[in-house]
Amino acid sequence: MNALDAVDPLARYRDLFIQAPDVAAYLDGNSLGRPLAVTPGRVAEFVTEQWGYTLIQGWDNGWMSLAQSIGDDLGRVALGAAPGQTTIGDSTTVLLYKLVRAAADLRPGRTELVIDRDNFPTDRYVLEGIAAERGLTIRWIEASDVTIDRLPLSEQTAVVVLSHVAYRSGFLADVPALTAAIHDHGALVVWDLCHSAGVVPTRLDDWGVDLAVGCTYKYLNGGPGSPAFAYVRSDLLGEIRQPIQGWLGSARPFEMGQGYEPAEGITRMLSGTPPVIGMLAMRDMIALIDEAGIDAIRAKSVALTEYAIALADELLPAVTLSTPRAADNRGGHITLDHPSFEAMMPKLWQRGVIPDFRRPTGIRLGLSPLSTSFAEVELGVRTIAELLAVE
Ligand SMILES: *Cc1c(COP(=O)(O)O)cnc(C)c1O
Repeated sequence: MNALDAVDPLARYRDLFIQAPDVAAYLDGNSLGRPLAVTPGRVAEFVTEQWGYTLIQGWDNGWMSLAQSIGDDLGRVALGAAPGQTTIGDSTTVLLYKLVRAAADLRPGRTELVIDRDNFPTDRYVLEGIAAERGLTIRWIEASDVTIDRLPLSEQTAVVVLSHVAYRSGFLADVPALTAAIHDHGALVVWDLCHSAGVVPTRLDDWGVDLAVGCTYKYLNGGPGSPAFAYVRSDLLGEIRQPIQGWLGSARPFEMGQGYEPAEGITRMLSGTPPVIGMLAMRDMIALIDEAGIDAIRAKSVALTEYAIALADELLPAVTLSTPRAADNRGGHITLDHPSFEAMMPKLWQRGVIPDFRRPTGIRLGLSPLSTSFAEVELGVRTIAELLAVE
């Protein structure tokens, strides 16, 4: 047994996840979190007893408010958001579109959107679409490590979109400082929390964040394609209008009346019927994060990435670490670069070691604290070293 696992206060949580028979080291929890062992039963029970037995009455027995209640739990447990500001629904891509469009409409007359060139493709594509639709210009930040001096802000800036943790390098942005700088120019910010929700705590309310979005199938273990979450700061909820005006974001959906009028509060960010089955798995993970504590999870995350970096320094001298060394500047994953990594991926899979590959040369180790052991990290790095040695 790895000595670090022996003293890890969160070690026991790993047994609560389904272990794949042929996987020796799962190092891709930042791309798709493992399912909890309770998830199959939860889904089966829902299908039989709720969908099967209560049928259409289920909508009156809680399904309709699930998006908001899970949103509130997530806000409390992991985001630092008071109730009434977080909801679940749509994919990250669609929610991002809704939030950025809504934010741009809150800054009429301003002509620029800002995003970094190395942000996740969907974030860039959504912004390009909105810019074309609204006649706005994108100001690109060329660096992937976004700091205040790199923000091209002016009195023309309407909305800035940034990732809390950069999906490639793992760089951890200073949310409160960047948010304050953006506000100094009268602009709004949408934070993408895809790679931080559930692993790096945020204090969205305290930090004055305007809007945030994130996905739930990474560190929140909601399962493939589970719906995303959106946060809207309470004092914006009165005026914000989002572009996909559907009946379930309207004020009185069951009156089936003429003319759209937005619902009060965070419900106005919704559009259509809530994805009820897709929200089942994340609930148990959010409860587990609550039990373990997001600060303890962050502490283990830092220890896991610290360990991975130390092992890489020792065993992989020819490999480049593309992630910040300072824990305060690093999220829950690390990226190592080497020209032969692409060819190595199938060999790693064969040996039951599953990291992530990001073109052109990056192996990403995504270390999900509740489901990843230090022994898995060690096995992963040692296997990479062995394969590099026999090249
Ligand atoms: C994972 C991820 C997404 C995914 O968007 P989907 O609509 O869920 O496919 C978007 N943005 C970032 C930064 C991500 O890390």
